[in-house]
Amino acid sequence: MAQLIGHYISGKHIVETQRSGPIFNPSTGEEIAQCAYGDVITVNQAVQAASSLNAQKWSKASHASRLQVIYKLRELMIAKTEELAEIIGREHGKTIADAKGEIGRAIEGIEFACNAPQVTKGEYARNVAGDIDVFSVRVPVGVIGCITPFNFPIMIPAVMMAMAVSIGNSIVWKPSEKVPSAALFFANLWKEAGLPDDIFNIVQGDKVVVDAMLEHPEISAISFVGSTQIGEYVYQKGTSHNKRVAAFTGGKNHMVVMPDADLEAAANAFVSAGFGSASQRCMAVSLLLPVGVETAEKLRELIITKTKALKMGAYNDESADFGAVISSQSKQSVLKAIDQCIEDGAELLLDGRSYQHPEYKNGYYIGPTLLDHVTTDMDFYKQEVFGPARGILRVNSLDEAIAVTNSHEFGNGSVIFTRDGKTAHRFFTEIESGMIGINVPVPLPVSYFNFGGLRRSKFGESHLYGPDAARFYTKLKTMSQKWPEQIEGHQEISLAFKIT
Ligand code: NAD
Repeated sequence: MAQLIGHYISGKHIVETQRSGPIFNPSTGEEIAQCAYGDVITVNQAVQAASSLNAQKWSKASHASRLQVIYKLRELMIAKTEELAEIIGREHGKTIADAKGEIGRAIEGIEFACNAPQVTKGEYARNVAGDIDVFSVRVPVGVIGCITPFNFPIMIPAVMMAMAVSIGNSIVWKPSEKVPSAALFFANLWKEAGLPDDIFNIVQGDKVVVDAMLEHPEISAISFVGSTQIGEYVYQKGTSHNKRVAAFTGGKNHMVVMPDADLEAAANAFVSAGFGSASQRCMAVSLLLPVGVETAEKLRELIITKTKALKMGAYNDESADFGAVISSQSKQSVLKAIDQCIEDGAELLLDGRSYQHPEYKNGYYIGPTLLDHVTTDMDFYKQEVFGPARGILRVNSLDEAIAVTNSHEFGNGSVIFTRDGKTAHRFFTEIESGMIGINVPVPLPVSYFNFGGLRRSKFGESHLYGPDAARFYTKLKTMSQKWPEQIEGHQEISLAFKIT
């Protein structure tokens, strides 16, 4: 009998389930366990826990006492990095080095959650009129429903939930059913860090669980990260059930290279940000836009050489640059996108379609694939290709590069390489993307800046982390107060609407 990865409710691991689905090791293609799939009843149990007396006490606890848990969580994450990286790599397929990098960013998010008192503190104005003082405070929203993707099994959950919990909220989390084990590991760390039971709950599963969360009246806010199609659905359904929803979705990140750029640095950036983690990052560079034929020809040669040198391997192969993609379905859809792109007229520079790992023939590997002369009418341009196939789209001018970048439905990240400050400034000013890079490969902001895309890369007016995320996890209350001197006898009454 395969091991069953279950739920976590009220501080207890729950393994019985009516439904389940397979979990694979993408590096080998083997089924390694089953993931329990919850239902309406499981979600009800989790929400009941998250609204219990324990949760109410947590929301009223002092910042100082809540922060003790966050400090401890950070220490545990550092101490258990090796163990967690192994769990992530085995279910995701990313290399151990990449998994450790992800854990590092998760720790950074936890560190920022220690700023909860600072970023949520209120405002005060003395004597606004008639000796009345006004102040506003931010209080926890209540139960937060978190729905996360497969590609960052710990970083996204940690940045999302550490702040939400630090502020005093409680959590019902549905992780990706493809990578459920890191979630349970995280739950154990919270417990060891001293978080009371009921605050942090996990319901594993699929759409059934998501729908039950979106419909549950006791869940006040939904924080979602995943594809645009599902994110839009979650946003629309969640808001129709009167929840605040922040959904962070797909990307097709353009990298523009000007003729004056350091081409060696640009080529390195394209290869590392394009193929890292088998291109399964929402901030991966998807398309290279060299400006002018000469830039295109020089870059193309550099990139071919550097990409050819990349090595694929199992997650625990220390010499590998990147690993397999997440599933057999994902592999098929990337192969289909490459085939279609060739059929549509692109030039195939490097073909990774037939790559097979010498030892793990059933692993979901695709070799790095490069296509030149991609054009904006091709599906390959329009769609987010979540696997190691990257394109070159040639443009003739900065104007054209900006127009092409801004015409895409996604606006997650955009990058330019140039040595000219005026060009960089114009790019920053005119590009409609949430995160912009100048001479950097991935413009992923540090945790104390806001993270989020524009256009159809984000639904809802918040950010995944940064000060804005802290605001998302709070609601605002404003109080006007007056402490008048005791006045004896009759006092005039006025019905006028006035400020004095
Ligand atoms: P996904 O949309 O398939 O899944 C995301 C979550 O939604 C998972 O928990 C999944 O179980 C659930 N889900 C899947 N199908 C559903 C359905 N029909 N109804 C309700 N819920 C459903 O995404 P994924 O493949 O896990 O992750 C990759 C995607 O996430 C990419 O598009 C990537 O760009 C995006 N992503 C975006 C960001 C960002 O910050 N913008 C960050 C990471 C990943």
